[in-house]
Amino acid sequence: MRVRFMGWVWMIYLGLGTSNLLGQIKTLDPTATLMKELTEAYGPTGSEEPVGRIVTKYLRPLVSEIKTDGLGSIIGTKKGNTDGPKIMLAAHMDEVGFIVKTITSEGYLFMNPVGGWRNQVLLAQRWVIMTRKGPVVGISGAKAPHVMSQEERDRMVTIKDVFLDVGARNREEAMETLGIQPGDPVAPDSPFQVMANGEYYMAKAWDDRIGLVMMIEALKRLQKESHPNTILAVATVQEEVGLRGAHTSTAIVEPDIGICLEVGVASDYPGADPKEAQEALGKGPGIFLLDSSMIPSRKLRDFVVEVARRNNIPVQYEVLTGYGEDGAEMQRYHGGRPAINLAVPTRYLHSHIGVLSRKDFDRAVDLLVALVRALDQKTVEQIRSFGYIR
Ligand SMILES: [Zn+2]
Repeated sequence: MRVRFMGWVWMIYLGLGTSNLLGQIKTLDPTATLMKELTEAYGPTGSEEPVGRIVTKYLRPLVSEIKTDGLGSIIGTKKGNTDGPKIMLAAHMDEVGFIVKTITSEGYLFMNPVGGWRNQVLLAQRWVIMTRKGPVVGISGAKAPHVMSQEERDRMVTIKDVFLDVGARNREEAMETLGIQPGDPVAPDSPFQVMANGEYYMAKAWDDRIGLVMMIEALKRLQKESHPNTILAVATVQEEVGLRGAHTSTAIVEPDIGICLEVGVASDYPGADPKEAQEALGKGPGIFLLDSSMIPSRKLRDFVVEVARRNNIPVQYEVLTGYGEDGAEMQRYHGGRPAINLAVPTRYLHSHIGVLSRKDFDRAVDLLVALVRALDQKTVEQIRSFGYIR
């Protein structure tokens, strides 16, 4: 029985190539399909167009108007059943990546990071260079251990020495035949997969494609449920280099309240320290109490916690010293607006593979829908007022 089972397993495994075994046997529901489509799209900071096309496709039927800001952020408007306050939802389309810096005479590429990378996750990975002739696959070459001294094996290769091998035999072939030019964006290449427990999903670029999926799924649910406000669903660009698309889009949206949809920093694996980050997979959406870009409105935070409690949605809290997000730009708009950051806890951020829980995601959408339904004019006025001046 065991042998036959293993034979069956291998047949499926071989049939699916590199796909995950148990996870891929199960077909993906529409939400997981959207996650797969968005996370597998290439959109390093400043080159978000492939992600923008997918977002537009899904957003268009859910909103009455759709437009862009001057940097390429997408702004969708969905009016509710009253002329209530403007609720801005923001999630960023860009992912951390690189741009091509130089091409050697032998045809290798050196790159400049766009967004926060660390040396440990760079070598022996697949990448895609987005060229004028289309995508070109490359690998970040790693020296064979056979020729390394023990000291060299232990030494970290730093970003500036990482090179890409695109299979070009010289510079001319890289540039003329493959179409690679300095300035071309480089994105990680990594497939979406459901893990063996069926609940955990692995993919690149959860930061912040999961925020985009939250936004789209919440808008889908709100087609059937009323909300006393106008939703501005914004897919921002260039978050990873300093919240630039959030800055430009907020000026167009003019929000009364801002809700940033993001990844949280899960810290539930060996070597992670809860003093540095506090979220764990499977314990519900995260609410940021503080990060290095903003202190959320306390009244809005308390309101979110109360709405979660009323709807039996578990939440977890996060205090981070090194983290910035689009909520900070919404908060600073035009004299100041209440803003908050809702997050889906995710492991191994800013690398080729992050891991999150589908249950956390579903609860995060429940919370977002409940929040939007509760944010009427009176509630928003209360959240925006301060008790010391009446
Ligand atoms: Zn992010």
